[in-house]
Amino acid sequence: MPTIKTPRPTLRATLRATLAPALALGLALAAFAAQALDVRFQRVAEGVYAHIGDTGGRTADNEGLNANIGLVLTPAGAVLVDSGATWQSARKIHEAVKAVTPLPLKWVVNTGGQDHRWLGNGWFAAQGAELIAHASARPDMVNRGNDQLQALKATLGAKADGTVPMLPTRLLAGSDERLELGGVVFEFKHRGGAHTPGDLMVWLPQRRVLFSGDVVYVDRMLGVLPVSSTKRWLDSLAVVEQLAPAVLVPGHGRVTDVATARADSQALLLALRAHMKKAVDDGTDVGAAVKSFDAAPFMRLLNAAELMPGNASRTYLEIERE
Ligand SMILES: [Zn+2]
Repeated sequence: MPTIKTPRPTLRATLRATLAPALALGLALAAFAAQALDVRFQRVAEGVYAHIGDTGGRTADNEGLNANIGLVLTPAGAVLVDSGATWQSARKIHEAVKAVTPLPLKWVVNTGGQDHRWLGNGWFAAQGAELIAHASARPDMVNRGNDQLQALKATLGAKADGTVPMLPTRLLAGSDERLELGGVVFEFKHRGGAHTPGDLMVWLPQRRVLFSGDVVYVDRMLGVLPVSSTKRWLDSLAVVEQLAPAVLVPGHGRVTDVATARADSQALLLALRAHMKKAVDDGTDVGAAVKSFDAAPFMRLLNAAELMPGNASRTYLEIERE
């Protein structure tokens, strides 16, 4: 526990008098920031909903649900796109589903191997939902599941209690797969991974809605991880362009369009890859290459200061391996 130092008594009275209004405001803001996780689905098309998660990092307040979640209604049942990061937040997601529809949840799709895409699976499996993911997500989940859970426990404390990494039970193997439920068509697009190896996009051709998972980040900066592939990420973004969705629900950030996805995700990956390709070809070392990357056009994105150095160095290392 960190020691909180208090001012000496003589000083304290002075401070109380001068800082009272500021303290009151600070407390009000703290109360606002400390609001409990509120999962709410907004309608984005007929029978299609999205919960837009926090765009900052994982905190105890957001219960690790700093990502978007999707919901699709069909006459034969509901389909959830991503299950949240924990058992307890999955229950809150389920409550939010019940506020929209009395339909049972038939399927839960995991659009990738990042914690908030699948660590809530246990709750939904216990409710009888089938867990669907791309086959490439499974080894990533096996490799990283326990580490992800330990990291969440460190941040969330008791709010992570009850969570167990539960793997998807129905695996999609191809790059383009199609399933139907109650007459609603679900197309699944996988281009070899993006942010994580199992990154899967869910396309609803009848509504022209795309749930991009972590292929598209808007408002905030995307994260290049050791398991990411910026090359295949761009292949996945090419699919977004081809589909030309009427509604694009990104993995992170507000409901958006292709032009914004281009500006906030694709442009960064293109710039990083072009810069790092030249650096590797010229024999520039990673430190110098990271330093000379012009990140200025992307610093407007949330979390950029924390993520930019890692994004740059990992892109360099990936290109070095190519
Ligand atoms: Zn994510």
